[in-house]
Amino acid sequence: MLTWKDVIHFSVNGNPEPDKRVEKTEQEWKEVLTPEQFRVTRKKGTEAPHSGALCTAHDAGKYECICCGTPLFDSTIKFESGTGWPSFTQPIKKNAIKYHKDSSFGMIRVEVLCNTCDAHLGHIFPDGPEPSGLRYCINSESMQLEKEESHD
Ligand SMILES: [Zn+2]
Repeated sequence: MLTWKDVIHFSVNGNPEPDKRVEKTEQEWKEVLTPEQFRVTRKKGTEAPHSGALCTAHDAGKYECICCGTPLFDSTIKFESGTGWPSFTQPIKKNAIKYHKDSSFGMIRVEVLCNTCDAHLGHIFPDGPEPSGLRYCINSESMQLEKEESHD
């Protein structure tokens, strides 16, 4: 399980190697994303709170990067943070997410990105629920929910 100490370690000393890399030019991303997805993921935008389609999603499944399809979070680790953005306590895999110290807007925060394609996802904070204490605060526009098939 990752803790805030691991997150700081990754953001300072480097991130774990991803399983693969997906790299495209800005023009190529523009062609496959909606303008809002492009603004959030490639230009580090933030969607308005409570606006995202996945904010209130409760279906079982995997949340994948909207840009490259890599699984990032599982629905079982999603929690209701009340912030207006989808929130998670852990990544699906240790090397799925990249951490980057962000000092924009006069604050020190830790930005989270897709480790496969560098899509901006959101930020991480050390005020999540136990036991990890982590809160991944993620834009809906950065993800798609791949729903689990029902077996009935
Ligand atoms: Zn990605």
